[in-house]
Amino acid sequence: MILPIVQYGHPALRQKGAEIHEVTDAVRQLVKDMIETMHAANGLGLAAQQVGKALQLTVLDARKSDRPSQLFLGVMEMPLDSMMPLVLLNPKITRLEGGEIGQEGCLSFPKIYLDISRAHTIHVAAIGLDGRSLQFVATGLLSRAIQHEMDHLQGVLFIDKVAPAALEPLESDLQKLKIQTLAELKKKKRKKPRG
Ligand code: ZN
Repeated sequence: MILPIVQYGHPALRQKGAEIHEVTDAVRQLVKDMIETMHAANGLGLAAQQVGKALQLTVLDARKSDRPSQLFLGVMEMPLDSMMPLVLLNPKITRLEGGEIGQEGCLSFPKIYLDISRAHTIHVAAIGLDGRSLQFVATGLLSRAIQHEMDHLQGVLFIDKVAPAALEPLESDLQKLKIQTLAELKKKKRKKPRG
């Protein structure tokens, strides 16, 4: 099922995600829906906060982009096809290497792109959908996407990562988006049946 993606201004985007202690049927269903939602939106990654759930859960798929990505299990580079879509529960970054500036978008900020500085290479420890621990190294676009999604899991957004001057030209677009999101939230609340 394709889920609605919440937009900037929605309070869920500022919530820190709770850790997942058990891979239940509900978690598996949410993951399935999030992957479907990410693919339908042509996204590279989607965090649980973006579908209104404050959990330490993100899904990613870096296969479609022409910007290079690598994923290593130990010293072995894995074909992306064998690892994507990638599901990360309770992810942690254990090591960061290098840095580079690159363009990022976000499904919760339609048509807004920002140059963000991120580590080039990250070492990640997470739990996979099978409940087992998963450790890997990611580089390039995949590394960037994981860092972006992991910020979401802490309630941090990409607009928080740039200097105020970089946001100035976007100020009115951001304000409009926020007002629209809040108006839609109000409408939904009103529509809720009583009792
Ligand atoms: Zn995002």
